[in-house]
Amino acid sequence: MPKPKYTPEERKRIQKENLLKNKEKFDRTNYSRLEAIEQGKKTYEVKKACKKCGSFERYISSKGCVPCAIKIGLEKLNNEELMKPYRTKEKTKKRLDKWREENPEKFQQQWLRQPKEKVNCRAAKRRALIKNQTPNLSEDEIKLIFTIYENCIKINQETGIPHEVDHIIPISKGGMHHPNNLQILTMKENRKKGNKL
Ligand SMILES: [Zn+2]
Repeated sequence: MPKPKYTPEERKRIQKENLLKNKEKFDRTNYSRLEAIEQGKKTYEVKKACKKCGSFERYISSKGCVPCAIKIGLEKLNNEELMKPYRTKEKTKKRLDKWREENPEKFQQQWLRQPKEKVNCRAAKRRALIKNQTPNLSEDEIKLIFTIYENCIKINQETGIPHEVDHIIPISKGGMHHPNNLQILTMKENRKKGNKL
């Protein structure tokens, strides 16, 4: 079918119509974005589907496709090589320590939520270590150990700051469960010390 021929006036009219249509479309999408911003949302809906995944959801900040951005983010997170510099032992530990400090209640809850067997197993392991590394103690030394633990509880109650009895040379590093190797530290100090000497 041959193209219909338009008079210059008609052509102008059609061009104007198309311009208006495009403007309307632009306003519609922008309106949805502005509305979403007003509602405090992070994403908004567009009329045109993403070419890659077919989603209509876009981020307000970047106008990028939401599922695609998540997919790319996950790919990056799963890329060991790429994430290596961010995942050193020290950095992970630092991050965890910071989180613990900022969320002491959550940390405690998480600890309590751990499977009982896991906690029991760890405690048993520790008890066994302590047993093996407890020298033959005199009665006085046994009493002294009790006193140290009792003092720790007293300090906790009086100051409201959690304290723990620490093995100066850690049990895991061959330290002895002997009064000479015990000290009372705040939980914070003790966590910082970990199993370092
Ligand atoms: Zn997409």
